[in-house]
Amino acid sequence: MIPWDSRALAVVERLEQAGCRAVLVGGCVRDSLLSRPPHDYDVATSALPEQVARVFEDIPQVPTGLRHGTITLFWDGLGVEVTTFRREGSYSDHRRPDRVEFTGTLEEDLARRDFTINAMAWDGRALIDPFGGREDLEAGLVRCVGDPERRFEEDALRPLRGLRLAAQLDFSIQGDTAAAIRRHAPQLPLVAWERLGEEFVRLVCAPGAGRVLLDFPESAAALVPELGEGMGFDQRNPHHRWDVYTHSVKALERVPPVPALRLAALLHDVGKPRTFTLDGAGVGHFYGHDKVSAQLAAQALERLRLPGRVREEAVDLVARHHLPVEPTRKWAGRWLSRLGEERLLELLVLKRADALACAGGEEGTPLLDRAEEEVRSLLDSAPCLTLKDLAVDGRDALAAGLSGPAVGRCLKKLLEEAAQGSLPNDRDRLLEEMGRFAQLEKGPLDKR
Ligand code: ATP
Ligand code: MG
Repeated sequence: MIPWDSRALAVVERLEQAGCRAVLVGGCVRDSLLSRPPHDYDVATSALPEQVARVFEDIPQVPTGLRHGTITLFWDGLGVEVTTFRREGSYSDHRRPDRVEFTGTLEEDLARRDFTINAMAWDGRALIDPFGGREDLEAGLVRCVGDPERRFEEDALRPLRGLRLAAQLDFSIQGDTAAAIRRHAPQLPLVAWERLGEEFVRLVCAPGAGRVLLDFPESAAALVPELGEGMGFDQRNPHHRWDVYTHSVKALERVPPVPALRLAALLHDVGKPRTFTLDGAGVGHFYGHDKVSAQLAAQALERLRLPGRVREEAVDLVARHHLPVEPTRKWAGRWLSRLGEERLLELLVLKRADALACAGGEEGTPLLDRAEEEVRSLLDSAPCLTLKDLAVDGRDALAAGLSGPAVGRCLKKLLEEAAQGSLPNDRDRLLEEMGRFAQLEKGPLDKR
């Protein structure tokens, strides 16, 4: 276990000095016991929100969810969420309690929490653990507090939180809890998509994501129905030993935990079932599946309300995952100038993961390895790879008689040639080339 954060403990102490009951609770207790740095700190207290505000009137604070009794304090640089002990009323919409009542007791507050490992508290002296959270933590088990059926019926997000937690901690899911997660999968879309999207990204980026996605396909299909089409879909192709979904999850396990990369790996083949054809020899093909996959990936990521930047990056990687690769300087220069360093290297990571997740993948990816070497050696040689590096610019293009979109087209062409080494990045040579480009552009217009 790691020492408790002294600032979080100071918040607890001050509340106790004011005569209230106060404890650290939830994820920070779980993570501290596991010797993992907590993601955030939560304090639960018998003090009502107004009282909390008064006790900490000298500390910067934001009433984050006053209706729910939460105030965030900024104690010496640490954000601490202080929430009044709560009991939840009935749930009629599977996502929010109809009302939240403040209760005097810590035990009731712990009983409303989702999983036993999230329902422990530390008051500065002892662990309060009425549901056996410590034992489950030691056994590596995610288990509901109380009856899983009822708890998931109340809040349809909980099953996904359970999967995310199991993937993050590399824990198993206790039998009844696992069965209830499967049964409640169809209810996931009742929750706001923003919250689902956030949890789903955390799940796919977790160390145990592959195992959880394969063990709980119903939940993955409820969140991304496009993935459901590939579950059990036999590719009828000697390059593939797994169905589309399993292959995709195996590819996901082989890329680093960067949201766009993990999502691209998971979705890179979603278009396969819709583009499947069988040739005369009984072999399956998926012509154009990269484009269809990109369309379906865009649709899925939009539904999950992911940030635009992540969506754009993931969809672009999916759309390009079949880009033919050549282990040459020319290829490296062309694609570095078109895609930029970061995107091209990510694309190579995705292509490698895809290849390794196919039949015969154990033999490695010599072509991709050599192409990556070309890219890296080109980067090391301080080449001309962006318009900023090019020895001519837009003003030169205007002076050469170009205008409108032709300016950009000309610069892009010159950049690509300079990057792949077919033209030197030399001002005079580039101006000459620019003149030729301008002539060609003018040609058809003059004839009119
Ligand atoms: P992390 O901060 O690493 O995401 P966490 O467990 O702290 O994990 P939070 O979302 O910060 O997750 O929630 C804090 C605590 O609130 C949880 O540990 C749990 O006790 C409780 N909790 C959060 N969401 C729910 C929920 N949907 N149902 C019941 N209890 C919940
Ligand atoms: Mg937390």
